[in-house]
Amino acid sequence: MIPFNKPYLTGKEAHYLYEAVNSGHISGNGLFTKKCQNYFEERWGFKKALLTTSCTDALEMCAMLINIQPGDEVIVPSYTFVSSALAFVRQGAKIVFADSHKDQPGIDEQLIESLITPRTRAIVPVHYAGLACDMDTIMAIANKHQLFVIEDAAQAIDSYYKGRPLGSIGHLGTFSFHETKNIQCGEGGMLVINDEQFVNRAEILWEKGTNRAEFFRGEVNKYGWVDTGSSFLPSELNASFLYAQLEELSNIQAKRKAIWEKYYENLNPLQNAGKIKLQVSSEDTTNNGHMFYIVCRSLDERNRLISFLKSNNIHSVFHYLSLHKSPYYQSKHDERSLPESDRYSDCLLRLPLHLHLNDADVSRISDCIKEFYK
Ligand SMILES: *Cc1c(COP(=O)(O)O)cnc(C)c1O
Repeated sequence: MIPFNKPYLTGKEAHYLYEAVNSGHISGNGLFTKKCQNYFEERWGFKKALLTTSCTDALEMCAMLINIQPGDEVIVPSYTFVSSALAFVRQGAKIVFADSHKDQPGIDEQLIESLITPRTRAIVPVHYAGLACDMDTIMAIANKHQLFVIEDAAQAIDSYYKGRPLGSIGHLGTFSFHETKNIQCGEGGMLVINDEQFVNRAEILWEKGTNRAEFFRGEVNKYGWVDTGSSFLPSELNASFLYAQLEELSNIQAKRKAIWEKYYENLNPLQNAGKIKLQVSSEDTTNNGHMFYIVCRSLDERNRLISFLKSNNIHSVFHYLSLHKSPYYQSKHDERSLPESDRYSDCLLRLPLHLHLNDADVSRISDCIKEFYK
């Protein structure tokens, strides 16, 4: 069976883990945490990067940082992972779900303004498959209505919008280093702070509501409880593992993108024949090789294709179910139908994309899909 995902290890993970263990310091905010954060800040020019235990945690920090109060509204695409909405719901927010684009699963920026009310506080664009949302339009809307923009860049490491790194454009950005992402440490994430006003408080929320980070820098002579917060920082075990992956980032990205390109080349004839749709490309956004998806013409066709691939020992998987129809949020949703989100729920299929695939695997998977559409 060709697995849908198989995490890649660079070979240095155990080495750095050993180094962390031997250093005698494995709780959070140690040497490897700082090395990782410095790497991100230097490579992508993020104002401040804080490692977290997940992207979900980083999103929860965002909800706290912008002080979401019960009844505040947050605009989130319906076609996304639960956490993009859940993090704000925990603070009492009402989620106003937005539909996806016709030609890609990201939020349709043209719909956003019609969803804004006096209670709206934030917009959460999700860069699906690492493909950038229309950030110029979104930032202009946010500035006009004085809203915060939180980029859910969980899938968007090393991807760019008009040359600017994703995660660096909104007031805040969040990343995931879950096992299924391009670089990973099992469970992990990162908060990126681009708006200076949030830097100090973010460090406090991160350290259980204490000013311990300032204390360790020698800026205050004792530390204590100064705000709300939680234990959002990962241990050095996670950070040392992640550091091994960072060292290989360019390599990992080159290989993922090569697999993506090969799929595209093989399957584009099917797109040209009107049978499937592939990820759109645009001059404004790069492709970071996070995911290769195809969009089928119907739910039935998609499910038959999954079975056909399975019978050929290939594991392919669909993705999100519209959050506005979820058991948890359905009754809280305002009854607007979101047809594009539903269409991606029904018709989108993800193909295996990981560093254990070789050229022959990619050819075999592509040939199988061609065979199905014959
Ligand atoms: C993976 C993912 C998350 C959650 O990341 P965790 O690190 O598992 O919390 C959130 N949003 C999107 C879009 C994701 O793909």
